[in-house]
Amino acid sequence: MIQHTLTILGSTGSIGVQTLEVARVHGIPVKGLAAYSNEKLLEEQAREFQPEVVCIFREDCCNSLKIRLADTGIRVVSGMEGLCEVASLPSVDLTVNAVVGMVGLQPTLTAIAAGKNIALANKETLVTGGSLVMRAAKEKGVSILPVDSEHSAIFQCIQGYSGNRVNKILLTASGGPFFGKKRDELEGVTVEQTLRHPNWSMGAKITVDSATLMNKGFECIEAVWLFGVKPEQVEVVVHRESVIHSMVEFEDYAVLGQLGVPDMKIPIQYAITYPERYPCPTKRLNLFDYGTLTFAKPDLETFTCLKTALAAIQKGGLYPTLVNSANEELVKLFLERKIPFLTIGDVVAQMLEMPEMGPVTVASILEAEQFARETVRSVCAK
Ligand code: NDP
Ligand code: MG
Repeated sequence: MIQHTLTILGSTGSIGVQTLEVARVHGIPVKGLAAYSNEKLLEEQAREFQPEVVCIFREDCCNSLKIRLADTGIRVVSGMEGLCEVASLPSVDLTVNAVVGMVGLQPTLTAIAAGKNIALANKETLVTGGSLVMRAAKEKGVSILPVDSEHSAIFQCIQGYSGNRVNKILLTASGGPFFGKKRDELEGVTVEQTLRHPNWSMGAKITVDSATLMNKGFECIEAVWLFGVKPEQVEVVVHRESVIHSMVEFEDYAVLGQLGVPDMKIPIQYAITYPERYPCPTKRLNLFDYGTLTFAKPDLETFTCLKTALAAIQKGGLYPTLVNSANEELVKLFLERKIPFLTIGDVVAQMLEMPEMGPVTVASILEAEQFARETVRSVCAK
C-alpha cells in the first residue's frame, strides 16, 4: 500500500496525465490539481479524483471552471497564488511538479518551505533556480525526487552507494528526430518534422528541446544540481534506442546503468513510491526486440543549443536562467511558425554574451527572465 497523498501541478500535460494513471492504478489519493487553461480535462480529472482544490492558472478561465465544478464542492483558485497554494496543501506530503517552463520555480520553493517532498519533472526549475531549490530542500530536510528519466536512472544507480564517489555521469540522449543531420539540412525543417520524436511521446516544448538538444543541455544542468557533481563530470552519450536511461561510473570504474522501455510511467512511479518498487502499468523490456544497442558522441557543431547550455552552467550565476528564458520564448515563436528552427540556437547563444547580472535570488531570476524574453522578442521582430 502506497502511503503518499499527492498534489499534481501540470496535471493535464503528458507527465501529469501519466502521473494520474499511476495514482489510479494504485489508489493513491490526489488532493490538488493544477493546469494552465485546459478546463475541460481539469474538470474531468477533478470529478474522478475529487481533490480539495484545483488551480487554473489563467485567471480568465477561473469563473467558467467554477461553474463547471459548482455541484462538487471542490474549490477553484487561479494565478501564481493559486498554483503555490495547490503546491503546498497541508493534507499532502508529495508535490508532483509537472508544469512546463520556469513558472514552476516559485511553487516548488513554496512547497519546499511547507515541508513537502518534491517529485520533480519540471527541469526548468532546476536550470534556473537549482542553487535555491537544493539549498532550501537541504534546510527543510525534504527530498527532491527526479522524474526525468535520465535522472531517475542515475538516482536508481546510486542507491546504496552513498559513501562512494561518482566519477562520471553518462547521460544518455536519443539524439532526437534530426540525429545525423548537418546545419544546412536543418534550414527548412517544419514544426511537424520537429515534433516527430523517435522514441518518446511528450509535450510540444520538450519535444522541440529534444530536437535542438537543448533538452540534453538542460539535463546536464539538472544533473549538476541534483547530484552535486561538476559540469565536466557529466558526459552526454547519444544512444538511439533509449533503453539505457543513463549510467554512473564509480571510482573503481564500475559502471551501473538502468534499463527499461522508454515509458515515463516507470520514473514517475519510482519518484512516488521511492524507495519501494511496485508493479507498473507499462510494458516489460525485451532486449531481443532491440538486438543491438548503439552509442555515439553528440554533434555540438550542429546542435549548438547543447554547447550553449553547457557553457551557461560553466559560467554559472544567472546565465542558465538567461538561456532557459530565451529558449522558452524562442520555442514558443517557433511553434507559432514565426521563426525558423535554426534561429532558436543562434539567438539563445547570444545570451552568453550578456553582462553578469548579480547574485541568484528569486527576484534576480525573474528580472533575468524578463530581460531575456524581451531581448528575444526584439531580435526576432527585426
Ligand atoms: P505538457 O506541455 O504536456 O504539459 C504541461 C502542463 O503544465 C500542462 O498541464 C499545462 O496546462 C501545465 N501548465 C503550463 N503552464 C502552467 C502554469 N502557468 N500554471 C499551471 N500549469 C501550467 O508538458 P510535459 O508534460 O511534456 O512536460 C512537463 C515538464 O516535465 C517539463 O518541464 C518537461 O521538460 C518535463 N519532462 C517531460 C517529459 C515527458 O515525457 N513529457 C520527460 C521528462 C521531463 P494546460 O494543459 O492547461 O496547458
Ligand atoms: Mg529526460
